[in-house]
Amino acid sequence: MTKNIWTVYYLILLISCIGLLGLGYAKHSQLYTNLSFKNKADVKLASKSIESSLTENELLLDVLGSRLLENGLYKNKQRAHFLLKQMRTTKPGLAGFGLADIKGNFIAVSGNLEVPNLPNLLELPETREDFQAALNSHNMVIGRTYYFEPINEWIIPLRKALRDEQGNPVAVMTTGVKVEDLNKLVGISKQAETNLTIINARNFYRTFVNGIDLTLFSKVYLEPMSKEARKSVDKNLLNAHLPTLEQVKTKIPNIPISGESIDTLTKEPIVGALIYNSKYDLYIVVKQTLLTTRNDFINAILTYVVLFILFHTVLILLVRRIHINESTARKHLKDQVEHDSLTGLYNRYYLKQAFHQSIPTNATTISLMFIDLDNFKHINDTFGHSTGDQLLIEVSKRLKSFKAHALHIIRFGGDEFIIVMADKSPQDFNIAKQVIETLSVSYLINGMNFTIGASIGIARENADSCNLNTLLSHADLALYEAKNRKNWVEVFTENLQIKSQKVSKIEHNLRTALENNEIYLNYQPQVNKDGKLHGVECLVRWNSKGLGFVPPDEFISVAEDIGMMPILGQHITEMALTEMSVLQKRLNHHFQISINVSIKQFMQDQFFEEFTACIEQSGIPFKYITIEITESLLIEDMDFIFSMLEHFRRKDISISLDDFGTGYSSLSLLRQLPIQELKIDKAFVDDILDDSKDSTLVKNIINIGNEFGMNTLAEGVELKEQLEQLSNFECDLFQGYFFSKPLSLDDLETFIKTKST
Ligand code: C2E
Ligand code: CA
Ligand code: CA
Repeated sequence: MTKNIWTVYYLILLISCIGLLGLGYAKHSQLYTNLSFKNKADVKLASKSIESSLTENELLLDVLGSRLLENGLYKNKQRAHFLLKQMRTTKPGLAGFGLADIKGNFIAVSGNLEVPNLPNLLELPETREDFQAALNSHNMVIGRTYYFEPINEWIIPLRKALRDEQGNPVAVMTTGVKVEDLNKLVGISKQAETNLTIINARNFYRTFVNGIDLTLFSKVYLEPMSKEARKSVDKNLLNAHLPTLEQVKTKIPNIPISGESIDTLTKEPIVGALIYNSKYDLYIVVKQTLLTTRNDFINAILTYVVLFILFHTVLILLVRRIHINESTARKHLKDQVEHDSLTGLYNRYYLKQAFHQSIPTNATTISLMFIDLDNFKHINDTFGHSTGDQLLIEVSKRLKSFKAHALHIIRFGGDEFIIVMADKSPQDFNIAKQVIETLSVSYLINGMNFTIGASIGIARENADSCNLNTLLSHADLALYEAKNRKNWVEVFTENLQIKSQKVSKIEHNLRTALENNEIYLNYQPQVNKDGKLHGVECLVRWNSKGLGFVPPDEFISVAEDIGMMPILGQHITEMALTEMSVLQKRLNHHFQISINVSIKQFMQDQFFEEFTACIEQSGIPFKYITIEITESLLIEDMDFIFSMLEHFRRKDISISLDDFGTGYSSLSLLRQLPIQELKIDKAFVDDILDDSKDSTLVKNIINIGNEFGMNTLAEGVELKEQLEQLSNFECDLFQGYFFSKPLSLDDLETFIKTKST
């Protein structure tokens, strides 16, 4: 979006630049069109007024001519002089009148000049050609502009031949227009920069150029236009229309055309218009310097540019404002997206985004710590979510104290946190232990004290080849392992992965184990002090088609994890009771049947009902049934467990506490529970002979059992010496390889039969 707005602005900038150029071009064309239009109008007007003024003069000469012809007046110098003088008074604006014979000699002039002192017009180079032309023409001829010394003036001579009745020239009448008077004569615009030039088309001498300095007159009037000057007119003024002045003359007489040029005299750029006046064979050119137009143009452009800059300044300010607002909003949004709203820690989204860029270039290893709080769910469920939330906030505060070690501290979700560290292996393990220690310090929330633990899984990878997903899944695997122990740090190893792959294989095969009849039972005898059979413990066996024999240690936990335990447990119970019922009936011998009950079964709705229904179906009296529960059950909701156990007790079903001594049941708790049997864990029995501590512990357990009126059963008895020792401690019951390994149903039958005989 931020980028977009600048893109939009640049687009506007581009468009407005093009607009500005267009506007400039339009203005230029407009000014130029106006100018050429005006010039054309001017040149046309000039042509008209020059023509009418010349026509007027020609008429005057015609009148004079007809008077001179009357009675051969022209031959009489005196009378001719008088007539000319008279004419002069009617038209004082003219330089004067003159009459010359066809040889070029003056006969008479209007002024007070002495005729003998006047030049011969055929001999004077300035006049010769046009005098000749006048003799040959029936029209008035415009002569070359020259300096007429006798009257001390620059004049434009106008000559017309006087002809007799046969049409032969008998004299030439001349009048002259003073150059300096011509400006008044032609009514063209008086703008200083407008320049009027009249060129004689007969000989390309300039007849008139307005507004030039007197010092330039000789150069301008006494020489014909240079070839170069004519070419320049051809090339620049005419090129758009007709290639040469000659063609203008024949093809478009009396029509103005306009163009641009460089003034041959001043070398300034000019615009001009040209017209050919066919009546007097003149080119009339109006020229105007481009400077004014240029100034107008520059002024217009400056105005546009100022407006352009103003517009863009405002626009840039606006875009900048939007950009800043946009960036702030985006930053805010980004913060929201990247942070966990409860704890303010970064979240998993951020981790995924930032992980790779955040790895320092010189780092060699990356450690990822997956932290999971133990028992958090319990606190959340029992004390409510707001307490849970506050606890999480506290936890994150404590985690923040590890900032110095961490690249990232992340709340991954729920009660899971992640710390990523660079180059911290193998210290990461100690840091993880410190994390657990820090998190285990009790929390005071809403006036209540809480303690929680944490389990941590660590995964490590080479910094240059590490992949977040791999690190996460490895750390997760290690965490899973750590969580089995609680308050534990586990580092991911290949073995863990192999184990986990094995677990998934077990998981996969276990789902079909029941329907494939791969599950069966073994029974391990339990004997009393007299060596007589007390009962059997039912132990599940799985001979998997896919995996071969899988020990229960390995698959029971998997069954629990994937929610299969209730069905599997039910199956085991049914199978055990059915087989034992048949066996007991056949041997007519009742003995205790111990069935291991998983916590996942025990917590199941209807477990008690289903279990007791199963026993009833088997016909075995309740008193011969023992359920083996483990201490892990005792950390669950005690009220529920207690009442459940009571139910079993009321049915006369015995309860045995399995693996006693490995867990954390307290003595006071033990006293309250309706338990009939304590099963001393094999680990203690193993060490009973050489570890005096374990020996004492076993002795104490037996004493406690006796005290609380419970039977004590030692499992894992493998040696005679162990049995003797246990007997000395007054242990009631024994189970172990010393007596028998777990047996198949048939072998059990044989075992019982041999024992009884
Ligand atoms: P547990 O309940 O403590 O079972 C006793 C284990 O110790 C059995 O292993 C048994 O074969 C073994 N054992 C007995 N005497 C000796 C001895 O003298 N030496 C040695 N080395 N071992 C001895 P097993 O059958 O592999 O069972 C392992 C665990 O699997 C059991 O421990 C129990 O926790 C679980 N389990 C077995 N069957 C069931 C079952 O049907 N239901 C449930 N929920 N768990 C079961
Ligand atoms: Ca057991
Ligand atoms: Ca046990």
